[in-house]
Amino acid sequence: MTNPHDHAHIGGQQLRPESLMMSYGYTPAWSEGAIKPPIFQTSTFVFKNAEEGKAFFELAYGLRQANPDEEMGLIYSRLNNPSLEILEHRLTLWDGAEEAASFASGMAAISTTLLALLQPGDVVLHSEPVYGGSDFFLKNVLRKFGIEAQGFLPTATPEQLEAQAAAIAPGRLAMIFVETPANPTNHLVDLEACAALARQYGSADKPVRLVVDNTFLGPVFQHPLKHGADVVLYSATKFLGGHSDLIAGAALASKPLMKEIKAMRTFMGTMCDPNTGWMLMRSLETLKLRMERAATSAQVIADWLRQHPLVARTYYLTHLEHCPVQQDIYQRHCLSPGSMISFDIKGGEAEAFRFLNALKLIKLAVSLGGTESLAEHPATMTHSDITPADQLEMGITSQMIRLSIGVEDPQDLMLDLSQAFEAVGMPKEVRVAELA
Ligand SMILES: *Cc1c(COP(=O)(O)O)cnc(C)c1O
Repeated sequence: MTNPHDHAHIGGQQLRPESLMMSYGYTPAWSEGAIKPPIFQTSTFVFKNAEEGKAFFELAYGLRQANPDEEMGLIYSRLNNPSLEILEHRLTLWDGAEEAASFASGMAAISTTLLALLQPGDVVLHSEPVYGGSDFFLKNVLRKFGIEAQGFLPTATPEQLEAQAAAIAPGRLAMIFVETPANPTNHLVDLEACAALARQYGSADKPVRLVVDNTFLGPVFQHPLKHGADVVLYSATKFLGGHSDLIAGAALASKPLMKEIKAMRTFMGTMCDPNTGWMLMRSLETLKLRMERAATSAQVIADWLRQHPLVARTYYLTHLEHCPVQQDIYQRHCLSPGSMISFDIKGGEAEAFRFLNALKLIKLAVSLGGTESLAEHPATMTHSDITPADQLEMGITSQMIRLSIGVEDPQDLMLDLSQAFEAVGMPKEVRVAELA
């Protein structure tokens, strides 16, 4: 393989990721001039001779150091495959990462990374709420391996977070795991403060890694590696895939960390398959277009929702006037508010359900980041395994509806939302309050 960076510049000027998504890391001459890379639908690769097979295995199993410019040879598709390698080279560009690995799902990326970087006796500090699968993995699966997960609430001040880290026995803190913006509240976590904490409590023998699930805004609108994160994780099922037709994940980090994560991927067998890798490359070509269009629509829709008489409050990243701390994090970390909107409908679960049942164009489904708009009820769906008391502490109400805005016409989406509000009718308590 040639160095993919050879084609990333013109006249010394670095080209932008969206300009490179169609070509980076692939040379048409490899495949009869095909402008698109073929799907390398193969389990194994033929060695030129036994000496080459030996050399490839020495490198793959770390039996010797690589020679300068030597890249790992192709052996078997659980270790590597050209469809995945091209995809992984392209994935590094948005986040400015040294290396990337693709996975069979977002949960495969999360679980493999955590198992690669943690060991018995370690403690993980993690933001709350996090994605339900991550929450279960942190609290129930890691415990079986003697790893303790400690959550911190969105309301924790930097001083409280520091006190929580200080209370952990010396040398046990190994990771700070953060999801920001948080699902479904869009609450932001200060990555720079977390990175400083990781440096303060880490040492050369026992580093504390900052691992960030960047599914909600990345990779176009937020770049955690630039704010001190060590690893960035994605559910590629969401914006990266973007068409609600595949399940995949990704991890990005420095070369030494990716070596550990990829070694664990080899032994867990959690890699992406070549066909899905190829689908993701196709999706990456329109990633920025899709995310920008969805965010532009979401901004219009969020502003419209905020003034709607049946909306009690919106949770959207440009509606943070009431919270200067959150606004400050937004300005430092985020390039756009993105396309996830949550709002509280006036009333309770009954009104939320009537609203969801009345939607026509917007589909009632979990997941997010696809071309089509989706709506769901976090309290009884995506976050239903969290107790009602904990939900309230995390800011998840029974009136909350989460929207993932797609690429439809925003006026059509508001037409649908409007008729759903009409179907709900004014809840009695709102009518009474407004008559008073
Ligand atoms: C969906 C999601 C995941 C899990 O990803 P899968 O691809 O479904 O395994 C993890 N984190 C976040 C924030 C998600 O939205």
